[in-house]
Amino acid sequence: SGRGPRHAPVVVIGGGQAGLAVGYHLRRAGLAPEEEVVVLDDAPSPGGAWPHMWDSLRLFSPAEHSSLPGWRMPATRDGFPRAEHVVDYLTRYEERYGLGVRRPVRVTAVHRGAPDAPRYRLETTEGPWTAEAVVSTTGTWRRPFWPRYSGQETFRGHQLHAADYREPSALAGRHVVVVGGGNSAAQLLAEVSTVASTTWVTPRPPRFLPDEVDGRALFEIATRRAVALARGETDDGGVGGLGDVVVVPSVMEARSRGVLQARPLPGEITREGLRWPDGHEEQADVVLWCTGFRPDLGHLAPLRLTRHDGVPRTTGTEVVGEPGLHLLGYGDWTGPASATLVGVGRPAKDAARAVVEHLRGGQPKRP
Ligand code: FAD
Repeated sequence: SGRGPRHAPVVVIGGGQAGLAVGYHLRRAGLAPEEEVVVLDDAPSPGGAWPHMWDSLRLFSPAEHSSLPGWRMPATRDGFPRAEHVVDYLTRYEERYGLGVRRPVRVTAVHRGAPDAPRYRLETTEGPWTAEAVVSTTGTWRRPFWPRYSGQETFRGHQLHAADYREPSALAGRHVVVVGGGNSAAQLLAEVSTVASTTWVTPRPPRFLPDEVDGRALFEIATRRAVALARGETDDGGVGGLGDVVVVPSVMEARSRGVLQARPLPGEITREGLRWPDGHEEQADVVLWCTGFRPDLGHLAPLRLTRHDGVPRTTGTEVVGEPGLHLLGYGDWTGPASATLVGVGRPAKDAARAVVEHLRGGQPKRP
C-alpha cells in the first residue's frame, strides 16, 4: 500500500510465551493492545515453538508451576503437561487478555529511525512499522545448534536435531547415538531406546536431579545462579541453566533398563560412526543432536549491537546503550530462567516497566 509506515509506541516481535508475558505486563501498565502495543508473530497460530515439539514431550514441571503471569496453567490429570496442553493454554491466554497478536507477520529487519523520526523502523511482511520501543521475543527454536565435528559431512548414516524429531518409529531397529547432556537428550534417549539400540554421549557426566525433585528446583537453581552471576560471583556451571536432568517417569524407566550410561564426546565422526581419541570406535546408523539452540536474532542485525559471548550485551532485558530495545526469553542472560514458562514472568514485568519509563522519558536521546 502506498501508505507510510504504521506506528505503535511499542512493538513486540514474537508471540510465543515471552511475547505474551511482556504483552500482559504492558497492558497492565496501561498500554492499549493493538494501538499502543502491537505483537507481531510470524507463526500461523498461537503457541510459539510448542506446536513443533515431539509428540511425547512432557514439561519438566507440573502445570501449576508452569504458569505465565496472571493466569495459572490449568492442572492436568495424568502427570506433567504435554506440549499440546501448553499450546492450548497459550492460545487461551492470548484471548483472555486480548493481546491482539497480529499473525502471520514476520519482522525481517529492525533499523534505527531517522533523526526526527520514531526510534525504530521495522521491515515486516505486512509493510513497515515504526516504534519508540521494541521487545524482541523470537525464541531459539529456529536456530538449533549443530556442533562441528570433523568427518560429519561424510557420515553415511542419518543425522537429525531434536528440533526435527517427532516420534521414534523411523529409528526402530537401528543404532542411534544421542548427543547432549540436557533434558531433551535424556527424554529422547529414554524414548528411542525402546525401539533402537543407543549410545549416549555427553560433554560432561550428566547431572540428574534427585528423583523426588522436579523442574521447580531447576528454576530456583537457575535463579540462584543468575543472582550469583549478577553479583559477579562464579557460576556453578550447568548446560544453559536448565542443564540438570529432571528424572521424569520416562527417564526413570530408562534408568531401570540401564540405558542412561553416558560416554564422553567422540573425537570424530567416521563414515561408519564415531571414533574416540583412545581409538575406540562405534558403528552408528543415526546421530540425534540434542545440542540445544541459539537465540534467533537475525532481524536485529541492522542495529549492529555490540556482542558479548556471542549475544548482545544486556543489563537484565535491556540492550546496553539501547534504552528502547529489550530482549526476552532467550536464556539466563535475559533474566534467570527467562526461557521457561514460570521464569519468564518476572523479567517480562521488568522489561514492561523499563519500556514504560522509556516512553515517559519523551523524545529519547539519539543514539
Ligand atoms: P518461542 O516459543 O520460540 O516463540 C517465539 C515466537 O516468535 C514464535 O511464535 C515464532 O514464530 C516467532 N518469531 C520468531 N522470529 C520472528 C520474526 N522475525 N518475526 C515475527 N515473529 C517471529 N520450558 C519450561 O518452562 N518447561 C519445560 O518443560 C520446557 N521444555 C522444553 C523442551 C524443549 C525441547 C525446548 C526446546 C524448550 C523447552 N522449554 C521448557 C523452554 C521454553 O519454554 C520454550 O523454548 C519456549 O518455546 C520459549 O518461548 P519463547 O516465547 O521465548 O519462544
